[in-house]
Amino acid sequence: MSKQPAIFFDRDGVLNVDTNYAYLPEHIIWIDGAMDAIKRANEKGYLVFVVTNQSGIARGMYSEQDVQHLHAWMEKECIQHGAVIDGFAFCPHHPEQGQEPYNKECDCRKPAPGMILSFAKSYALDFENSLMIGDRESDMQAAQAAGIKGYLFAGGNLAQFITPLLQHS
Ligand SMILES: [Mg+2]
Ligand SMILES: [Zn+2]
Repeated sequence: MSKQPAIFFDRDGVLNVDTNYAYLPEHIIWIDGAMDAIKRANEKGYLVFVVTNQSGIARGMYSEQDVQHLHAWMEKECIQHGAVIDGFAFCPHHPEQGQEPYNKECDCRKPAPGMILSFAKSYALDFENSLMIGDRESDMQAAQAAGIKGYLFAGGNLAQFITPLLQHS
């Protein structure tokens, strides 16, 4: 099987407005063009993954199950718009804050590349043509540590932002 490029999206501040510790569907305000961006990436032959730090779990604000439910909801919303998310990964940890078993150093919390690399274990990824879209420097550092290109999204329309970056085909 030939290798497929992937686009990794940070979640808060990229796909949805960063409203601080969103964990319910009613907290989600989609960024302009978010679903169109996913759809365009699908059409261009990219796998679409979401990689998000969720230290709200470590901090006891919501549970892993809450995040899983929210992501299932987001996935369904996207499908209704013809956009397919191939996978979600989240880091529930925080190195200092919160409670066991989540208050620890881990290799998944961005700027570490663990979430990006975890997808490389289940998919044959074309790293050369893969990219990460994030709104923070830690997203860029995670991309660099994983060996893919990172692009800082500062707001606006996400589909317009990524269209010139999807040069794979
Ligand atoms: Mg963010
Ligand atoms: Zn982690």
